[in-house]
Amino acid sequence: MSDLAQSTVMFEGRFAREFAEMAIPWRAEEVTDPQLLVLNEPLATELGLDPDFLRSPEGLLLLIGNAVPTEATPVAQAYAGHQFGWYAPRLGDGRALLLGEIMHVDGQRRDIHLKGSGRTPFARNGDGLAVVGPMLREYVVSESMHALGIPTTRSLAVVATGRSVQRETLLPGAVLTRVASSHLRVGSFQYARATGDIDLLRRLADYAITRHHPAAAEAENRYLALFQSVITVQASLLAQWMLVGFVHGVMNTDNMTISGETIDYGPCAFMDAFDPAAVYSSIDEGGRYAYRNQPLVAEWNLARLAESLLPLLHDDQEQAVELAVKAVGEFRRRYSAAWFAGMKAKLGLREGLDDEVTSPLVDELMALLQEGQVDYTSFFRSLGQAARGHAEPARGLVLDLAAFDAWVERWRALDPDADVMDRLNPIYIPRNHLVEEALAAATDGDLDPLKRLLEALASPFEERPGLGRYTAAAPESFGTYRTFCGT
Ligand code: AMP
Ligand code: MG
Repeated sequence: MSDLAQSTVMFEGRFAREFAEMAIPWRAEEVTDPQLLVLNEPLATELGLDPDFLRSPEGLLLLIGNAVPTEATPVAQAYAGHQFGWYAPRLGDGRALLLGEIMHVDGQRRDIHLKGSGRTPFARNGDGLAVVGPMLREYVVSESMHALGIPTTRSLAVVATGRSVQRETLLPGAVLTRVASSHLRVGSFQYARATGDIDLLRRLADYAITRHHPAAAEAENRYLALFQSVITVQASLLAQWMLVGFVHGVMNTDNMTISGETIDYGPCAFMDAFDPAAVYSSIDEGGRYAYRNQPLVAEWNLARLAESLLPLLHDDQEQAVELAVKAVGEFRRRYSAAWFAGMKAKLGLREGLDDEVTSPLVDELMALLQEGQVDYTSFFRSLGQAARGHAEPARGLVLDLAAFDAWVERWRALDPDADVMDRLNPIYIPRNHLVEEALAAATDGDLDPLKRLLEALASPFEERPGLGRYTAAAPESFGTYRTFCGT
């Protein structure tokens, strides 16, 4: 690793400096022939990074961690985690590095992080590498989530390494440059708690408060306030996932952030046909992380966070447990309120309507969608037209026409706002068959389908001519979708 001759950007190494117990200084593996596959120019600019510089040979070396500013201290972060319910005391960045924090134009710090940058001391049996397909997949889906207005880590670039990586077959290697409000995870707190070092735990909590939940610092019990704040942002995040039909796929506690951003896009997918039992991950055989289970899993993960924070919540353990239980209990209420409010908004329903009218309306609609295996995204988008009196497109998607007609009549009597609906119900989502098509082409060296897909997804609510194929459900021939963990 060399120093960057002209440091155009200031990398802070706060986490590396302040949490030496959880950060192993490490270097990215040398790449001899890096090739830029995709660069997020708007995001680069927001971060004060010159896109032309990033495209230069020296800039590419920065993007993959092969040359970093002199003041930067790349580290592999330690964390623990419950994976499919089983506790792993030492996970950590096996193939990732935190380069440091830089300032975004919004005045908040962002982590610059690499995925696929080589083995670290946390690599266990892994090769430390990543391949083009899954890294582009994270790029596409995370940027789509961002455009949808859903909190998420972002993707700055994917750089091909020119090196072959052994998976089921040999595949081209790549490094993803990821940008996050931070990489603090529930698993980071599990790790700090397991060290038995309460001072470390407290410092980590203080860091999380400063970086993500500053209002908690004013509270009488700041660590309880931190926990409540994480519950609030996660309840809101989960509601947004559910409302848009997103299945994360691997909601282990190490894949859940303290900031409330979606993180770690592995075997994730958007639903086509509405199916509460939808699972796409090839390794999730029991359906633990199925669509309908996501809020319950989030609550379970937050209970693990509560356990980690117990010593900070109260000196008396019984009272600490009482506070934690009460706080976790808030998650359901907040999640349900956020989901119901979001669903009413998707239906264009005005505020102040009686729940006794709207609640059964929502329930009946969900049953109708499930029964008819209706394409979730297309249906809500067409419903905007139904609000304008043109019900045929939505009607054409359902099975039980009589039930639909009766439902529409009751719904339209509430005078739904079609313009609001069009601003909330996306027309372009990263449909699985389109994502797979773009990744396969990119893996073979053709980046055009990826570029076109990214363009469509960048403005998901704005219908544009010529993009019809990005709105349709997968053809029958695509079959049942299975995706493999993000390797
Ligand atoms: P994930 O399922 O991507 O959240 O990863 C779970 C854990 O496995 C993390 O500690 C990763 O760093 C690690 N990991 C995943 N893939 C690899 C790999 N190819 N080499 C080393 N570690 C890996
Ligand atoms: Mg992970």
